[in-house]
Amino acid sequence: MSGMTASRINRRAFSRSTLAAAAAAAFPIPALSAGPPARVVVVGGGFAGTSCARELKKIDPTIAVTLVEANKTFTALPMSNSVIAGLRKIGQQQFEYRASTAAGIDVVIAVAKAVDPQARQVTLVGEKLLSYDRLVLAPGIDLRWDAIPGYDRAAAEKMPHAWNDGVQADLLRRQLTEMADGSTVVMSVPTAPARCPPAPYERASLIAHYLKTAKPRSKLIVLDAKENFSMQRLFQNAWKELYTGLLEWVPLSSGGQVVSVDVASKTIKTDFESYRADVANIIPPQRAGGVTTLAGVADRTGWCPIDPITFESKQQADIHVIGDAAIAGAMPKSASAANSAGKLCAAAIVELLAGAKPREPELASACYSLLAPGYAISITGKYHPVGDQFIEIEGAGETSPLEAPRSWREEDAKLADGWFTQITGEVFG
Ligand SMILES: Cc1cc2nc3c(=O)[nH]c(=O)nc-3n(C[C@H](O)[C@H](O)[C@H](O)COP(=O)(O)OP(=O)(O)OC[C@H]3O[C@@H](n4cnc5c(N)ncnc54)[C@H](O)[C@@H]3O)c2cc1C
Repeated sequence: MSGMTASRINRRAFSRSTLAAAAAAAFPIPALSAGPPARVVVVGGGFAGTSCARELKKIDPTIAVTLVEANKTFTALPMSNSVIAGLRKIGQQQFEYRASTAAGIDVVIAVAKAVDPQARQVTLVGEKLLSYDRLVLAPGIDLRWDAIPGYDRAAAEKMPHAWNDGVQADLLRRQLTEMADGSTVVMSVPTAPARCPPAPYERASLIAHYLKTAKPRSKLIVLDAKENFSMQRLFQNAWKELYTGLLEWVPLSSGGQVVSVDVASKTIKTDFESYRADVANIIPPQRAGGVTTLAGVADRTGWCPIDPITFESKQQADIHVIGDAAIAGAMPKSASAANSAGKLCAAAIVELLAGAKPREPELASACYSLLAPGYAISITGKYHPVGDQFIEIEGAGETSPLEAPRSWREEDAKLADGWFTQITGEVFG
């Protein structure tokens, strides 16, 4: 127990130091020399882009910052699995950009449809042109509609992914609510790299919770294209404790890889067999948001190589890529990492505009997973650049202990709520 208490204290210290590091990211930077204000355009008003735009204005209010975002309302995906399980309302996930506008950022609600790195211009749908000195691309991910035969945009209306927006999360919720007791739910999990490594397993847990409480004769089958996953033993122990008989996980070696789907018969085919689903949640493979391809900053993997000190693209000068779209080594594709990268990228841009050398960043990530109401686990980490990549700083992160009293899991569930309130307040409030 005492070891556990010490670790608990360390964890709290970690949270404090993470917050302090975040605040320190706003270190003072020498003012730019007189002349026309520098223009920074940020495409993507999610956790990475909005954090970056706001931090730019905070460090140097003279910079003309434009934030281009496709949607007027942002739907946050952390905690969206709770919406699917009926534990939260989608409205609790939604945020607008008033605070960014109030901070002096020019928020433009439009889709960026082209980037000309030579002319340093972004074209918006509607043909408006934005010129920039530095461009930040933070478009998150696109789903790869070509990856699973039979699974395209139309199929997602019947077999929702619920991975990129609130409408899909609501659709999956509705399908679960409307299905009969005794039904089979099938979920598919893609290979890495993908957005938020623990999130599919959080979702599996919360769907199982819904079945246990509302449709106990039903079953969830999780088809996984991977053999191992983040916090695996913690998840599997909890599944044994909470959801025996309700949740079956099928790893790659047992035929977890989905090779095709048939929407009409709601059939999911793997290397080994076919599964008939009453409700199917297909999470397809992913790549960086499409604007990165248009800008020529995505490589053959579909993701964007960057300099880990400046977040500048390795393929195009004066374009930075942050958040899920970037190749960031050991850093998970998470909202907290995106927030951290957004702020540090802003600091680097201000230094570059001033002709100074950006300092080496240290990024932080924290991911909480809710497995049932009042039962959460977490993983935190810190990362720094080594060579071309971010690597994890040994001993700086923490994962929930495998053995812990239920009160520990309850406290993690409260910390998860607190984390969401804190990060969305900071980025959108
Ligand atoms: C189910 C689920 C649960 C998750 N849980 C957690 C969690 O507990 N903790 C955690 O840290 N992370 C979690 N995540 C991951 C987190 O949501 C992402 O890592 C994070 O949103 C990445 O931030 P981003 O800014 O890169 O992308 P986003 O937040 O997706 O923002 C990208 C924005 O860019 C806009 N955009 C894209 N292209 C264009 C364009 N051409 N023109 C204009 N706008 C454009 C989009 O509309 C979007 O608003 C979860 C993800 C999922 C799916």
